[in-house]
Amino acid sequence: MAKAEWPSDPNCPPENAVKSKKWFDRLTSDTEADITMCLQESGGGQAAIRIAKSIQARTEQINRSSFNKLTELRQAGKELPPVACKRGCNYCCHLEVGCLAPEAIRIADHLRKTRSPKELSSLITKMRRHSKFRASLPLRQRSSGNVAPCPFLGQEGECGIYEVRPLNCRTYLTFDAKECERASQNPDRKFCVTFFLEPLDTRDALHTALENACKNLDLPSHQIELIRGVTIALQVPGASTLWRRGVDVFAEANI
Ligand code: SF4
Repeated sequence: MAKAEWPSDPNCPPENAVKSKKWFDRLTSDTEADITMCLQESGGGQAAIRIAKSIQARTEQINRSSFNKLTELRQAGKELPPVACKRGCNYCCHLEVGCLAPEAIRIADHLRKTRSPKELSSLITKMRRHSKFRASLPLRQRSSGNVAPCPFLGQEGECGIYEVRPLNCRTYLTFDAKECERASQNPDRKFCVTFFLEPLDTRDALHTALENACKNLDLPSHQIELIRGVTIALQVPGASTLWRRGVDVFAEANI
């Protein structure tokens, strides 16, 4: 069997723990610097959207490198299963999803641009019903498997906001959909799912960068629940501008 060589792509998370820590720290500090510059340059409501766009694009770039790495390893003779996630497979879309304020603001902006007033109003009703139902559950059950489908799911089980979905959804990838199915059917989620770890490292680095940049500028930086966060971004007038001014407009959606 040929020796597996790791690609020299600088975007690609490296193979060992020491290099990986350096890579993580570098990605975090570079992204934090970019986000800080963006926040300092943009005072208005567009700052959050620009930031979310840029970290989502960065995630896609690194995910591509991670996928290329899997291909190269396979070509070098390593036995690695393919990533199982595909359109319409949505076991993980029944879990509670966390995001950061700029991501919720970007999703709300996208929905305003792509849905008719009637569609938006019925989506908001669906989102409110979803949040009310989740809030009625005991805490332990809220994040468990097969509780309530994400209101953004489309008719064919696909993500209806795929282009703007949050980092958590972009980086939650598995090699075995059967494990996800078993986990979704078990209310205690005692089954382990074999995740593709590099995308999760990418997500952690980018979330850390965003949290650090926001904290340094006295902006709210906590994780919020996706559906409640997007509902606030859609319903509170000027939510994006308020967030940029340091108002904790998403406090009710805190996780
Ligand atoms: S935003 Fe999309 S990918 Fe994320 S949970 Fe909802 S439907 Fe699934």
